[in-house]
Amino acid sequence: MLNGKNAIVTGSTSGIGHGIADALAKAGVNVMLNGLGTADDNKDAIAQVSAHGGKVNFSPANMMKPDEIAAMIDLANTEFGSVDILVNNAGIQFVSPIEDFPPDKWDAIIAINLTAAFHAIRKVVPGMKTRNWGRIINTASAHSLVASPFKSAYVSAKHALAGLTKTVALEVATNKITCNCISPGYVWTPLVEKQIPDTMKARNMTKEQVINEVLLKAQPTKEFVTVEQVAALTMFLCSDDAAQITGANLSIDGGWTAE
Ligand code: NAD
Repeated sequence: MLNGKNAIVTGSTSGIGHGIADALAKAGVNVMLNGLGTADDNKDAIAQVSAHGGKVNFSPANMMKPDEIAAMIDLANTEFGSVDILVNNAGIQFVSPIEDFPPDKWDAIIAINLTAAFHAIRKVVPGMKTRNWGRIINTASAHSLVASPFKSAYVSAKHALAGLTKTVALEVATNKITCNCISPGYVWTPLVEKQIPDTMKARNMTKEQVINEVLLKAQPTKEFVTVEQVAALTMFLCSDDAAQITGANLSIDGGWTAE
């Protein structure tokens, strides 16, 4: 049923977003990829998604810049004719005690992890309403439900993203548009790998201690979530079977937030 639909996945040149874009393309969805850098910088990620045969395009829009977000959506409308599925996934992390937290890092995390979703959603909703169908999926985090020390900006942005999700869901509920967020625990991606050195510093730990005593400590299953598992949940939320799931915050965290 998704064959021929059109999607934008922000932050899809790497990690979770790339996995979601790949799964959508495999199902026959035309996909606008997005991420930092040029198309040439991201040629391998683009080639992998293109291999499924649908239309694939790339927007280098910086999620900190509202005009570039608008241009990305205009490009998708021009190239594909509509945006039926929007996955707000781009995100960054920074780990620091609050008293040392650099204000520019706070601003960047709030802009990319939260405000970008607002700018993208407000631009795609009118078209979805006209076509009486839409799927909006926001990649939140277990940190939309619980906190961890030294992640003040990230936890704030993800809690707010869950609130935005609920609000939008209510506003578009009678238009056959659903809006949900997915809240993964730790997924082994470059975002997680990159925060290990800062966490080592902040907590005075070795790499192995950070993996076992900080990251996997939070997850009762003692396993990382996989990109493919998050993509599969996204695909279900896009399906007709999920038409009555809206405003939900779906955990995929190995039991982390059950504790
Ligand atoms: P990643 O670092 O592998 O990928 C991040 C993507 O976002 C890349 O494509 C990057 O180019 C893009 N990006 C970063 N800044 C951008 C900007 N300013 N403009 C446009 N694109 C930008 O990260 P990931 O682990 O795949 O994370 C994806 C999402 O999943 C994020 O929202 C993250 O908070 C969330 N998440 C990740 C985990 C995890 O354990 N990896 C857990 C819960 C939630």
